[in-house]
Amino acid sequence: QAKELGRKRFAIFDEALAKGMVDVLAMESELRKALRQNEFEPHFQPICRLGDSKVVGYEALIRWNHPQRGLLRPSDFVKIAEDSGLIEAIDWRLFELSCRLLAQHGSSEPFITFNVSALHLRHADFDVRVLKMLERTGLPPERLVTEVTEGALLDNPESVRAVLERLRSAGVGAALDDFGTGYSSLSYLHSLPLRMLKIDRAFVHELDKAGSSNSTTVVAAILALAHALNIQVIAEGIETQAQLEALVSMGCEMGQGYLLGSPAPIAHWVDVQKSP
Ligand code: C2E
Ligand code: MG
Ligand code: MG
Ligand code: MG
Repeated sequence: QAKELGRKRFAIFDEALAKGMVDVLAMESELRKALRQNEFEPHFQPICRLGDSKVVGYEALIRWNHPQRGLLRPSDFVKIAEDSGLIEAIDWRLFELSCRLLAQHGSSEPFITFNVSALHLRHADFDVRVLKMLERTGLPPERLVTEVTEGALLDNPESVRAVLERLRSAGVGAALDDFGTGYSSLSYLHSLPLRMLKIDRAFVHELDKAGSSNSTTVVAAILALAHALNIQVIAEGIETQAQLEALVSMGCEMGQGYLLGSPAPIAHWVDVQKSP
């Protein structure tokens, strides 16, 4: 009897597992098709100087224009794209398109950042590929900033440092993304060639709450440390005027968030800039 039950439970488990595998396989083949049919596009979120809200850069964020399911965000597909190794091909397509769009449409000023995953950084020739891509698209290296997370550094910090160092010599900047979450280690701050650091939105979110003195202290400390090391700071996820004011008063120079502008296709920003 018990054995019988056990077997049944097993069967149910197997079914669920099999269904999950079918879903993943289906998703993989959809991702391949999407790549062939150019269904990925970058949305651009403005990065603003906080003093006067002037747009100084854009973060390129991937979106999937799914023919049936509409516009998909990274949380809907990036994990599976990473597990299947497809993220690399998808990202390179997206990076190149992002650089091309900004080189064509932007004035000479705003920089562009994009998110580089651990998989990319495992290639010792990542920098070579980036520089070739910049040549093809006509975007000056000084206008590109790569975003890396602390998690991506765990694998092989020495090799990542060398790649970022070579990119820096060529003019390409690096930003440490989601700072303060995950594996924060202060040693990264001085050992990596960083132009920028992005304070994770979890800290920003707390800033306008009653009893926010702890996050205020943390943000102030991050700012002091970064500035002492000559690293510029971008605050992520600014949603309220009170958060913005708190950051300005603490001397944070740049920020992004729904208050300043949500991610949107390039046409949105070009039109905005053209209108009087
Ligand atoms: P991230 O690099 O930290 O990007 C910021 C995320 O916060 C974006 O979500 C953005 O839409 C969202 N955001 C911006 N302002 C606000 C705000 O005021 N409030 C809140 N609550 N959220 C805000 P998104 O576009 O869904 O991207 C999620 C993550 O996916 C990114 O986090 C990044 O790690 C990854 N990602 C995005 N694009 C790419 C890509 O092209 N390639 C790879 N490999 N990863 C990407
Ligand atoms: Mg980012
Ligand atoms: Mg990120
Ligand atoms: Mg981030």
